[in-house]
Amino acid sequence: MSFKDIKGQDEVIRSLKAAYRSGKMSHAYIFCGPRGCGRSALAANFAKYINCEEPQKAPCDSCVSCGKIDKDIHPDVKWIRKGEKDTEIKIEKIRELEKQIIFKPYEGKYKVYIIEDAELMSIEATNSFLKTLEEPPQNSLLILITEKPKDLPPTIVSRCQPVRLKPQQREETGPILTDVLEEFSRDAYVENYKAGNRDELSARLNILAGWYRDLLVFNSTGDERLLIHRGKAGDIKRDAASYGTGELMDIFESILDAKEKVESNVNPKLALSAMRLRCTK
Ligand SMILES: [Zn+2]
Repeated sequence: MSFKDIKGQDEVIRSLKAAYRSGKMSHAYIFCGPRGCGRSALAANFAKYINCEEPQKAPCDSCVSCGKIDKDIHPDVKWIRKGEKDTEIKIEKIRELEKQIIFKPYEGKYKVYIIEDAELMSIEATNSFLKTLEEPPQNSLLILITEKPKDLPPTIVSRCQPVRLKPQQREETGPILTDVLEEFSRDAYVENYKAGNRDELSARLNILAGWYRDLLVFNSTGDERLLIHRGKAGDIKRDAASYGTGELMDIFESILDAKEKVESNVNPKLALSAMRLRCTK
C-alpha cells in the first residue's frame, strides 16, 4: 500500500512531504479524521517516506525499510494501541515508548511511534507521554491518530501539529463484491493490514456490508427503490437470486462481526477467515 492508494488526501500528503523535504517536519502530528479516511495508512506511508532507502522515489515500496514497515517488523516504527481487552491505552505502553525512543534509530533514519485512538490514553499514560512531547529526542517522530481531537488534553494538542484528513468519498463502490473477496483471499493483503491499516480494512468491510445489505433488502422485498447502490441494481438482482434470505442474513452478520473484531484489534487474518468462509460458500 502506497500514498497513491490513499484516496482524497492528496493535499495533506503533499504538505507532509513538503514539510519533510524543507526540514520543517514537526516532531509530533495529530492525524485526525473519521474512521476509514486513511489515517493509519497515511501514518504508515509517512513513516516509509522518511525512512525509505531510495529518497528520490520515496516511498519506493521495494527497499528493505519500506518492506519492513509494511509487514510491521521495522524495529524503528512502532504502533501503540489499546490492548484487546482494555478500554484505555495503559501507561505501560507509553513507558515502553519512553524507554525506546531515547536510543538512536536502529536501522532507519527516524524512530516513528504511531498511537492509534490516542484519545484512549489513560490519564497516567497522557501525563507520561507529555514528558516525551516536551523534550522529543532527535530523529524521532510521534503520530497521534484520533477521531476525536477534542478528547485529547490541550497540553498534548498544543505540542503537536494537527493534520486534518477529509472524510472518505462515498463513490468507491465499483465492482465491490468480487474485488473485495478476491483481495481478502490473498494472504499478503491481510498481512498488510498488520501494518496498521485497520481503518482502511474497516472501511472496506463497511462497503462490503452495504453490498450484502442491498442483496438482503432486494431478496426480501424485490424493491429497487430501497437499495443503497441503485446504480448497480442489475448486479444486485443477479447476486441476490443466488442466495436464500437466511443465508444473506448470516453473511451480513458475519461481515459486521468481522468489522467489529478488526476495529477492536483482533488479528485481521483471524477476523476475516471466518467471514470469508461464510461469504464464499
Ligand atoms: Zn523504500
